[in-house]
Amino acid sequence: MLTEKTGKSCTGCGACAVICPKKAIRMEDTKEGYCMPFVDPECCVSCGLCEKTCPELSPVVLRTPQEVYAAAAVEDDVLKTAASGGVFTALAKNFLEAGGLAAGCVMDLEDSRARVHHILAAEERDLARISGSKYAQSDSREAYREIGEALKEGKKILYSSLPCQCAGLLRYLEEKGISRDGLYVIDIACHGTNGQNVLNQYLAYLSEKHHGEITGYCFRDKERSYQYSPKFCVKKGKKEQWIKLTLNEEGYWYLFQRSKLNRDSCFSCRYSAPERCGDLTIGDYWGIEDAHPELLAQNGGLMERRKGISFVTANTEAGRQLLSDFGRELMLFTSDYRKVLVRGDSLKAPSPVPEDRLAVLNLFETGDFGKLARYARQQQGTGYYKSILKENMKAENPFR
Ligand SMILES: Cc1cc2nc3c(=O)[nH]c(=O)nc-3n(C[C@H](O)[C@H](O)[C@H](O)COP(=O)(O)OP(=O)(O)OC[C@H]3O[C@@H](n4cnc5c(N)ncnc54)[C@H](O)[C@@H]3O)c2cc1C
Repeated sequence: MLTEKTGKSCTGCGACAVICPKKAIRMEDTKEGYCMPFVDPECCVSCGLCEKTCPELSPVVLRTPQEVYAAAAVEDDVLKTAASGGVFTALAKNFLEAGGLAAGCVMDLEDSRARVHHILAAEERDLARISGSKYAQSDSREAYREIGEALKEGKKILYSSLPCQCAGLLRYLEEKGISRDGLYVIDIACHGTNGQNVLNQYLAYLSEKHHGEITGYCFRDKERSYQYSPKFCVKKGKKEQWIKLTLNEEGYWYLFQRSKLNRDSCFSCRYSAPERCGDLTIGDYWGIEDAHPELLAQNGGLMERRKGISFVTANTEAGRQLLSDFGRELMLFTSDYRKVLVRGDSLKAPSPVPEDRLAVLNLFETGDFGKLARYARQQQGTGYYKSILKENMKAENPFR
C-alpha cells in the first residue's frame, strides 16, 4: 500500500489524493502537524495509480542549472509584496498581461486561523495575494486539478511552489496523460516546512495574547527589513491595527528557520540538491554582499539589498524562454551557481535533524504555543535574532 511504501519520505504533496479515481485517499494532519495521505481500504480498489503517481516512488528528472542570475524587480510595488527580489511576481505580472494564468500560494485568514493554499489567478488584482512567502506547507491539490483542466483548454500557466509540490504536479499531469506544453514551473529553494497546524497554533496564541482576532499576517515586512520582520493585524471590535512583532512574541520564525518542526520528509529531501525540478529555481540571494558587491546601490550598483534580491537559475530551455519573454520588469545580472551555493544551504543538502527535535515536538503536541514561544525565547538568547531585531527597529523604510 502507498503509505507503507512511502513512510516518512512522503512530502504530503497530495498528488495521490487528487489522482485517485475512487476518492479513497484523504489528506489528514498527524499529531506532529503534517498532512499525510490516509487510504480508506473500503474504497480502495488497488489500482496502483497512487503509487505510480507518487513523486517519491516515481521521481521526476532533476536538472543542473544552465544560467544563473542575481535578480530583482524594477518596480517598488512588486518588491514590497515579494519575499525577496520578486522574481515570480514580476514574471507573473507580464504573464497575466499576455493572457496566461499564474498559480501561486495565498494565505486566507478566518477566525484567526490560516488556510495556506495555491490558487490559479487570471487577474492582475490577485498578484499581491500570490506574491511573497507564506512559511507553512501550502495545499496545492485544488490547483493541480485546475491546472490540468486549464492545460487541456490550451491555456498557458506559470506555477510556482516548493520543489516537492512541483514534482507532485508534474507526476499528476503525466499520469493523467495531460501534456505539460504551455506550463512553466518555478521551484523555490526550500530548507523545509512545517504544517499549517503549527502556524494555526501560533496564530491562536497571538490572538489570545492580544485579545482580538488575527486578520492579517505578513512574514516579511520589508518596510523594516528583508530578513526578520514579521507583522500581524489584530482586530478588536471594529478597530484593526498592524503590530510589528518583537522578539518576546516571536517563536514561529525561529522554529521555522531552524527547521525545528519540519515534516520528517524534509530531513531527507531529494530536492535539497543543486539539481532542480523546475524550469526556473528562485531563492534568496544570501551572501550577495560578498558574491557581487558591485551590484549593490551602496557601491554604485542598481540593486538595493534592503528591498530584497533573489537568485534565479534557468534549468531548461523553457525556463530561459520564460525569462526572456516575460522578464522585462526584472533586473537580471549574470552570476555563477558556485557563488549562489556558498550561502545557499538548501541547494546543497537537506537540513539536519535538530538535536532538540523530540523536545520541540513534545511541546507542540501540548497544543499550547506559549510553551514553544518560551522555549524559543530561551534558545534565541541574546545572539543573532536579537541583534537583527534591534537593527530592524532602527532601520529606515527603504521604500520612502
Ligand atoms: C517554506 C519555504 C521555505 C523556504 N526556504 C528557503 C531557503 O531555505 N532558502 C532560500 O533561499 N529561500 C527559501 N525560501 C524562498 C524565499 O522565501 C522566497 O520565496 C524566494 O526567495 C523567492 O522570492 P521572490 O521575491 O523572488 O518571489 P516572490 O515573487 O515573492 O514569489 C514567491 C513565490 O513563492 C510562492 N510561495 C509562497 N509561499 C509558499 C508556500 N508556502 N508554498 C509554496 N509556494 C509558496 C508564491 O506563490 C510565489 O510564487 C523558502 C520559501 C518557503 C515558502
